[in-house]
Amino acid sequence: DRRTLLAEVPTGIWLSNTSVPAKSGKTFPVIDPATGDVLVEVADGGVDDAMAAVAEAAEAGPKWAATPARERAEILRAAFEEVQRRSDDFALLMTLEMGKILPESVGEVNYGAEFLRWFSEEAVRVGGRTTTAPAGNGEILVIKQPIGPSYAITPWNFPLAMGTRKIGPALAAGCPMIVKPAEDTPLTMLLLAKVFADVGLPPGVLTVVPTGTGSAAQSAAVMADRRVRKVSFTGSTGVGSLLIKQSADQVLSTSMELGGNAPFIVFDDADLDKAIEGAMAAKMRNGGEACTAANRFFVQNGIRPAFTAALTERLSTMTVGPGYDDTSELGPLINAKQLDRVAGLVDEAIEAGATVQTGGTRLDGPGFFYPPTLLTDVPAHCRIRDEEIFGPVVVIVGFDTEDEAVAAANDTDYGLASYFYTNDLNRTKRVAARLEYGMVGVNRGVISDPAAPFGGVKHSGLGVEGGVTGIEEYLDTKYIALTPH
Ligand code: ADP
Repeated sequence: DRRTLLAEVPTGIWLSNTSVPAKSGKTFPVIDPATGDVLVEVADGGVDDAMAAVAEAAEAGPKWAATPARERAEILRAAFEEVQRRSDDFALLMTLEMGKILPESVGEVNYGAEFLRWFSEEAVRVGGRTTTAPAGNGEILVIKQPIGPSYAITPWNFPLAMGTRKIGPALAAGCPMIVKPAEDTPLTMLLLAKVFADVGLPPGVLTVVPTGTGSAAQSAAVMADRRVRKVSFTGSTGVGSLLIKQSADQVLSTSMELGGNAPFIVFDDADLDKAIEGAMAAKMRNGGEACTAANRFFVQNGIRPAFTAALTERLSTMTVGPGYDDTSELGPLINAKQLDRVAGLVDEAIEAGATVQTGGTRLDGPGFFYPPTLLTDVPAHCRIRDEEIFGPVVVIVGFDTEDEAVAAANDTDYGLASYFYTNDLNRTKRVAARLEYGMVGVNRGVISDPAAPFGGVKHSGLGVEGGVTGIEEYLDTKYIALTPH
């Protein structure tokens, strides 16, 4: 149960495969967003704790890089199996610290663990290439080598999967990894680190340095250290852009999974029931707190009344409550700040003349709950039509022509996920090609797959995670020129 679990989860800085207090002795609270209560106190890592992690990574790095790929793969595979075996613990822990409903936490355990399996399989497939120089004067031999000690900064919305999506390829490639988990959800990452130690990962290869308010100081110090070669970040575009600037001094390799502003387009010829199912998944999964979440609904005017009515019906009958209650279909938002932000966006739209089809007012009582909400007639200038909502709020805007829909969908600085529903094959190919997004879901509301490349264009990021290219982010290319004699 939760008491035994919380007693077992490491709450210190994870160094040398053990949990130690912060050098300062300080801690910060981890909050249950369903109640506002403190779950547990976690060590508040300072710059000196982070430097200890960097030193460990630098020391462990060469040996880990020289470890046969098969051995690294077996450790990742064992971690995959151990995470699956402890699925109930990981799921409950995520629901406790992040708030999502338990079935979704179980889904994330599967998804998150899958990156460990996927990259255990990729670890042994790292290869180079040899070609004959066109001039005939030698051979071009290309090999791949681990990039070196890497630093991951992860968000709170997927506390496990955003970690494994970075740790999996780093470890597979032969790179040690230092992780700074989000301050709202450090526990899942600490339990994952313990699992890695349990299955035999050598000390120093994976370290975790949680911090309450010290993220900026930590990242500045770690990224300024010459021993670190890579930073991988998932989070907001604002912080990502700051980290890219910060990475310049040491010319660090960066992978950036940043914000999204996903369009969800429904054409008149779409299957209405399927579009509603897809909309529910694309918007409501994770309470809307996903960078891939549908953020702007563009619905063709023929199907719009039926779509709006059906989605309103679905949203208005959802049960809102703590993620660990069996009856809950939507959990709380992560914290008071996000609740205020989402409520503020909706209030502003209503003031500007939006029509509330359902929801639209905060719920009483403890915890950070916001009801499923659907707005129509939102004026174009409202912030809610441009900003990443990160909550259970749908805004529906009508359109007449395909050109109009594509133009509206592309009219944003972001370019992560996009979705559209149609039964016309020619339109499918046209629209998929024209959407300026890294990922396009056609007639489906969930697209993430460990075997597929995940990444965005424009302000949504740099690089891809997962798929066959995910491991490349942790590899350097070396060219060896050979001349026969
Ligand atoms: P959100 O607004 O959704 O919390 P953030 O981008 O702020 O997204 O957070 C993502 C991650 O970035 C978290 O681990 C957070 O602690 C971290 N973070 C926030 N600000 C900074 C910063 N200035 N430097 C490094 N990491 C940061």
